[in-house]
Amino acid sequence: MAKSFDVVVVGAGPGGSLAALRLARAGLRVVIVERGDHPGAKNMFGGLLHRTPVLEELIPDFAERAPLERHVYKKTLAFLTEDSAIMLSSELGGFDKLPHNGYTVFRPVFDRWLADEAVKAGALLLNRCTAEDIIRRDGRIRGGSVMGREGVVEGNAVIAADGVLSFLAKKAGLRRDFRPENMGLGVKLLLGLPEAVIDERFGLVREQGADISFVGGCGAIHGGGFLYTNLDTVSVGMVLHLDSLIASGRAPYEVLNDFLAHPFLARLLRGASPLEYSAHLVPEGGYGCLPRLYTDGMLVVGDAAGLCYTNGINLEGMNLAMTSGVLAAETLLEAFQAGDFSARVLSRYRERLEASFVLRDMKTFRHAPEMMRLDRLYRTYPRLLVDIMNEVYRTGTRPRRRLSRLVLRRLRQEVGLTGLIADGWRILRGLL
Ligand SMILES: Cc1cc2nc3c(=O)[nH]c(=O)nc-3n(C[C@H](O)[C@H](O)[C@H](O)COP(=O)(O)OP(=O)(O)OC[C@H]3O[C@@H](n4cnc5c(N)ncnc54)[C@H](O)[C@@H]3O)c2cc1C
Repeated sequence: MAKSFDVVVVGAGPGGSLAALRLARAGLRVVIVERGDHPGAKNMFGGLLHRTPVLEELIPDFAERAPLERHVYKKTLAFLTEDSAIMLSSELGGFDKLPHNGYTVFRPVFDRWLADEAVKAGALLLNRCTAEDIIRRDGRIRGGSVMGREGVVEGNAVIAADGVLSFLAKKAGLRRDFRPENMGLGVKLLLGLPEAVIDERFGLVREQGADISFVGGCGAIHGGGFLYTNLDTVSVGMVLHLDSLIASGRAPYEVLNDFLAHPFLARLLRGASPLEYSAHLVPEGGYGCLPRLYTDGMLVVGDAAGLCYTNGINLEGMNLAMTSGVLAAETLLEAFQAGDFSARVLSRYRERLEASFVLRDMKTFRHAPEMMRLDRLYRTYPRLLVDIMNEVYRTGTRPRRRLSRLVLRRLRQEVGLTGLIADGWRILRGLL
């Protein structure tokens, strides 16, 4: 027999749990269906939880109670060639003060904590339950059939928070299959290092943390790297464009091993002990690849809706997932008041997203995916940067050359005027 609730949330990632928390606080009967042994068991990410106002509003003492590792104070953008690194490093005083701008976290711990908050507010969490199909009744989606002990769970509406490959959104006809060119494959290694060693190597004190984004360092494959310091571990990995990885014929762990062998990384991670290797897909299509976000009886949030973006400097997804989860919940509260769960009423969800930073930021960086496909971004420009810095710092008997002439000569040799104009346009459109 079907179990009945007001709302069925599929997926206990950050998007699903915050949606459930908001709905349960409003007094609705909410069930969260999660396929993992516990929330977060199947989840991984790079490591930075960006500041998320909806989280702070719903859990005002979150900074004291949540399982956070370090607040990120030191941000670095590093360009890698085979044997060199050029860094733009910022130690941002404002990020050292409350409210902090972001924290490093572990998903298996953080996701579990967040889902528990929803449970404390009254939501029912069903672990080890995979939603296998959607149930339609009276022309709208009412729930899902669930593999596991529960059979069928039904509600007045469903929130699909089932992550990047969202089976539910596909079943509901809201999106087509993802294509490799719109996907990144994230690979990550968690490494153990004593807290004092991390502090000393990265120049940190108290719970300060470091975040390094890498451009280059993936050989011929398009993608970038990341490194985040936790209390006594370091998360290091790469997000590789799936089509480029497939074309290379290389295994992701080989590419990661090469990255870790770079002298800059090898020095930072010397003596670290590998604790865990993980991999996960990232939706990288951006604003141009968003699916339909709602239909009669169902709303799609977070990665399931492609609400995640990168501009090569930041990768943001957790904050977008949580914000979209809360905006979906608020739309459903309105639908309950009206007693109407049709797409017409649920279309307010898209309007809310459009008015929030979620779709505004995604729109701002809508051209970033084109920029990220620029081949020269990954090898030519980092190499040019290294050549220029070599010239700036080189001493010896050879007389110095004017920097402007060197830059122009190298650009002409490597890129050419038309190439430079085309690349400049794509980079400016992607970033600004
Ligand atoms: C390598 C990598 C690095 C990243 N780095 C960052 C970063 O530093 N900062 C950042 O903000 N974002 C980052 N992201 C993106 C971020 O992880 C996602 O945007 C975010 O997790 C999306 O949250 P979500 O709740 O939508 O989905 P998920 O976190 O994917 O949660 C989906 C949940 O649904 C469950 N589920 C799936 N299918 C079913 C089903 N059929 N039935 C029941 N349960 C189901 C899953 O087990 C999971 O718990 C990164 C991603 C990757 C892969």
